[in-house]
Amino acid sequence: MSIIEELDVLLKKYNLTIYDAMKIYEMHQIKPIRVVKCHEDSEILWQYYCVGQNPCGCGSNCYHYEYDNIDDEIYGVCNVCEKDIYVVKKEYKEEKLKEGKWISKSLKF
Ligand SMILES: [Zn+2]
Repeated sequence: MSIIEELDVLLKKYNLTIYDAMKIYEMHQIKPIRVVKCHEDSEILWQYYCVGQNPCGCGSNCYHYEYDNIDDEIYGVCNVCEKDIYVVKKEYKEEKLKEGKWISKSLKF
């Protein structure tokens, strides 16, 4: 049976339209969310500086942490051009996530 035929059988079985099926699928999709690390008390962006270095290449030496729920990784992100500069090593991830307060990026920027 082709995937189309299989889908058609399922739609008929549960009395659904293709639009119902798409709606159900969308509801169960994991939405990509990035949260940024802020100071717990002030909710000000927790920033890091590379003294005498230029890790991004854009000229800025100032970056912050962003956690990505899809990749399950913390990224060091440039404050100026918002490029992901590096990935925090797995062994430091839990410890970093416990520090500060992680706020949705859309609320912070
Ligand atoms: Zn940059």
